[in-house]
Amino acid sequence: MTDLSYLKDDFPVLDDGVHFLDSGASSQKPIPVLEAMDNFARTSYANVHRGAYKLSVASTDAYEAARRRVAEFIGSSTDDEVVFTRGATTALNTVAFGWGLENLGEDDIILSTEMEHHANLVPWQMVAKRTGATLDHIPVTEDHRLDMDAYAEKLVPRVKVVAVTGMSNVLGTMPDIPTIAEMAHAVGARVVVDAAQLVPHAPVDVQELGADFVAFSSHKMLGPTGIGVLWGRMDALEETEPFEGGGEMISEVSLHDATWAPIPHRFEAGTPPIIEAVGLHAAIDYLDSIGMEKIFQHDQELTAIALERLGDVPGVTIQGPNDLDRRGGVVSMTMDGIHAHDLATILDEQNVAVRAGHHCAKPLMKCLGVAATARASFYVYNEEADIDALVAGLRRAGELFGVN
Ligand code: PMP
Repeated sequence: MTDLSYLKDDFPVLDDGVHFLDSGASSQKPIPVLEAMDNFARTSYANVHRGAYKLSVASTDAYEAARRRVAEFIGSSTDDEVVFTRGATTALNTVAFGWGLENLGEDDIILSTEMEHHANLVPWQMVAKRTGATLDHIPVTEDHRLDMDAYAEKLVPRVKVVAVTGMSNVLGTMPDIPTIAEMAHAVGARVVVDAAQLVPHAPVDVQELGADFVAFSSHKMLGPTGIGVLWGRMDALEETEPFEGGGEMISEVSLHDATWAPIPHRFEAGTPPIIEAVGLHAAIDYLDSIGMEKIFQHDQELTAIALERLGDVPGVTIQGPNDLDRRGGVVSMTMDGIHAHDLATILDEQNVAVRAGHHCAKPLMKCLGVAATARASFYVYNEEADIDALVAGLRRAGELFGVN
């Protein structure tokens, strides 16, 4: 078992012994991230790209260094392909509204999937309504994977964009993005990957991924809330109009017209999340000091243990692939006769923190035929003892509800 237990002291919020199994919603923050933000705010903070004075220059340097660090982390060929946003949701809306409204029309098809988070679904519904484009979805197979045969059938030349998750936040399924992208490009479609669950948990190289746009959030990868990333291949960003107007994103402005600043600044209207960028930089340093391969391996080992032990708990059904093939550390479950919310409440009484609900994936819940699931998700600070506690808590819930 990959031992990361030495990291636990870096997460003071876990000191009271909580078995925190909700990193899929948001991860905890290690001391080096908290300290980096605190130090920066104490010594180097000012607004960026505006002042000629030393503090503003220091702040701008730190903000742009964070952009360089993100670019390096995901294998971007240039820093300019990294756009800072408020989070994955804003990044995906930037693509849907900025690229979609410009490039889609009545004859076009937007192809998404039945396993998307609302963040990669609702913006496309809105854009489909405005442009007249048709929205279609790749179904999920019985073993909770993306139906690649159906994808091949649905991928007709009218498809102009494929919007797909890099890792389902409900099932843990990791679709084969390089293959999906290659197939999409063969019909001339753009590919948008919701990597909110992927980038925090697996090594990601955007060149290998092959997509045109990749979106993710800092707060799920040990960094602060309020900042996320839209990576876009330069030619795809060039096809994209700014989604927000305001300060910092312009080149020239008159009373009736404006021209845009170069990419990426044209997509960063207003004062950006500056302290948060420093926090994200520190979070990436922290993740890299562990190693993303090792983090993925650790998540998978915990998932293997969870799948095995949960399978022995009476009444529990895993909603997601039953093996580790292309699967991340998200384990959703239902329990006969117990609503997911009751399950989460009973687990909380045992100091086990899991999420219950539809996980912002209502259409997927419908496909699964369930109203809600309880979801355990793993990260660097989790260990086998957390799964033992989860299993004990589930058994306790079963006893209370008479499940056998
Ligand atoms: N996509 C997926 C798969 C997610 O899990 C989430 C967060 N739950 C999002 C998108 C949205 O991320 P954020 O709320 O940080 O914008």
